[in-house]
Amino acid sequence: MKQNNLWQETSQEKLTSKVLEGTVESDITIVGGGYTGCSAALTAAENGLTVSLIDQQIGYGGSGRNVGLVNAGLWLPPEKVEGILGKKGGVKLNEALATAPDLVFNLINKNNISCNADRAGTLHCAHSQNGLKDIKNRYRQLSERGAELKVLDKNETELVTGSSSFQGALLNEKAGTINPLSYCLGLARIAQSRGANIFESSLATKIEFHNNEWITHSEKGLIKSKKILIATNAYLKGISGIPSAKYTPVFYFQAATKPLPKEIIKNILPKYHGCWDTATVMSSFRLDYDNRFIIGGIGNLGQNISKIHSSWAKRKAYSLYPSLKNIPFDYFWGGEISMTDDHIPKIYRFGKNAYSIFGYSGRGIGPGTYFGKSIAEAFYNENEDSLPIRPTSSNNQSFSKIKGSFIELGAKINHLI
Ligand SMILES: Cc1cc2nc3c(=O)[nH]c(=O)nc-3n(C[C@H](O)[C@H](O)[C@H](O)COP(=O)(O)OP(=O)(O)OC[C@H]3O[C@@H](n4cnc5c(N)ncnc54)[C@H](O)[C@@H]3O)c2cc1C
Repeated sequence: MKQNNLWQETSQEKLTSKVLEGTVESDITIVGGGYTGCSAALTAAENGLTVSLIDQQIGYGGSGRNVGLVNAGLWLPPEKVEGILGKKGGVKLNEALATAPDLVFNLINKNNISCNADRAGTLHCAHSQNGLKDIKNRYRQLSERGAELKVLDKNETELVTGSSSFQGALLNEKAGTINPLSYCLGLARIAQSRGANIFESSLATKIEFHNNEWITHSEKGLIKSKKILIATNAYLKGISGIPSAKYTPVFYFQAATKPLPKEIIKNILPKYHGCWDTATVMSSFRLDYDNRFIIGGIGNLGQNISKIHSSWAKRKAYSLYPSLKNIPFDYFWGGEISMTDDHIPKIYRFGKNAYSIFGYSGRGIGPGTYFGKSIAEAFYNENEDSLPIRPTSSNNQSFSKIKGSFIELGAKINHLI
């Protein structure tokens, strides 16, 4: 069996685009059409800048493959963020990303993006007593910073998940779920309707700075611009002439059933919350709009679907929900996460008016949309005040395939047991 991505099959948003041919001049070039690139293109176009975005396919990367949990903040709890960035920088980033679900759902509503957005809330589920301590600690930190959350006890968690597997859960009623690829395509469609040039089947192959201009080459054409954003996150495909973003690649995969009848799902996530757990080798689970059950875990499926990970998905689904016994999974697909050393995204300034944004470390729907919007604001305001984090001019992350392989080994061992 080969990988088949549920979101590719169920996306309602469609896009008509061109291939980059000949020479195009724009104020801004954007390389990469995920949330970061599309959100930047939309904001730039809405503010009257000319913008050209190129990719092989909009939503080809993490934005077209993820779980679809629209959460506030980063994976890291806010005290950790403040510890790493210092009080002032940490507070700025925490406050910015606390608003990210509002940004995402408002964009969807305002622009009628068809992505099955459901602001039903998300649940961070405690898989153990230590997990429960973790969510209570997160609750304290986030509540002190104004978030409206609830800690659910074991019984309350069982009521909302339909599973007896958890010791409790942290409920964020302002978060929610989307069809992630549809959201990305919708952003691109709206950006295009505001005047952005969206080019597909067009990979950037070489970028050079010449006569005060960035020249981005693709196979059949080139874009000239004064400003450039590289928004390729974990999916960078060789571009010569500029330094590459460095990160640790971590794989995550998902499996989904066909739409399930009422008698099978009647106790599963009755309020359609999106969920993930506190385990180190974490799992996620949710229903989609048509009642497909979707489970996810860390690991590299490979093109031919790793037996270790696919068997785990079936066992895990059954252990959470006995009614899923013998229900086959029809979809298996995976994606890559770009993890930074400190799990904080980076804005890397690699030249004049030239930035690369990456390293969302597994939470990029809200953050990608926010960072994309902010960099476009920085471009038209011609200052960096709007950026949620200070850009760096050194790219000293460790690109650690070894670290990534170690995480994969841990996931395989965990999924074998
Ligand atoms: C399996 C999985 C599950 C996840 N679950 C969640 C979740 O539930 N919630 C959440 O908030 N986050 C989640 N994330 C993280 C989130 O998906 C990413 O952080 C986010 O999509 C990153 O967006 P982006 O626009 O920066 O990059 P991407 O969406 O990865 O886009 C990068 C784009 O760059 C393009 N590109 C690369 N090289 C070139 C080139 N040379 N020329 C032109 N284009 C190029 C690629 O084709 C790609 O389309 C998950 C990630 C994965 C992989």
